[in-house]
Amino acid sequence: SRRHLIVGNWKMNGLSAGSLELAKAVAEGARDVGPAARLVICPPFTQLAAVAKALEGSKVQLGAQDCHQSPSGAHTGDISADMLVDLDVGFVILGHSERRQHHHETDGLVQAKVKAAEKAGLTPIVCVGETAQQRDEGHTLETLGEQISKSLPKDFSGVVAYEPIWAIGSGRSASVKEIDETISHLHDVIGRHLDVDDKSVSILYGGSVTARDAASILSIPAVGGVLVGGASLSAESFLGIARAA
Ligand code: 13P
Repeated sequence: SRRHLIVGNWKMNGLSAGSLELAKAVAEGARDVGPAARLVICPPFTQLAAVAKALEGSKVQLGAQDCHQSPSGAHTGDISADMLVDLDVGFVILGHSERRQHHHETDGLVQAKVKAAEKAGLTPIVCVGETAQQRDEGHTLETLGEQISKSLPKDFSGVVAYEPIWAIGSGRSASVKEIDETISHLHDVIGRHLDVDDKSVSILYGGSVTARDAASILSIPAVGGVLVGGASLSAESFLGIARAA
């Protein structure tokens, strides 16, 4: 029986009261979730300290949604990997398509962030994914291959998340066949481009995952877990996904 990583990305959602309530409900509900699921929630920076407290003594781990590539210095408004470790954060999402698009993050910058995160002791969750146009034009595998080979250092020891951009927030998850084919290909690419055993890198699927389709997605052998956006904002939905692991 494999262990699945079930990661909730809250994105830019959550004020003090609601975040604490949600984190406590997830921590409480996680007690009845079997050992097949490893749970991580990634609130916005502003809620990390409070959520860390709410998760104390639970089996839910804490993640962040980005970090800077430098350890410290003159970077107004940025957050370093050490600052996250200081708040008991264990994971960090890097290279999410929303940051690649709206903050112009390149593969090279993502790789610099991955190195900084690993150096600080965080486990990076590196996102890759194709646009609808790239898929329609038959460029999916080439696009992802380039993102993988340029965003990950050769000795990468983190987690990858395959998030097709057309499936994010669209209510239309990729099909089991698409997920299986694409993630199997990503394992091959990792085996070819990196100096690591491709089986040592866990690959998650993300994009409109709900409690309804989680079981079929998590039953795909190549899938190491799921990265959940919208459905992670409800404890009931997120725990429903975790119970499907
Ligand atoms: P949704 O689950 O809301 O489609 O978001 C997916 C995502 O981008 C998680 O990082």
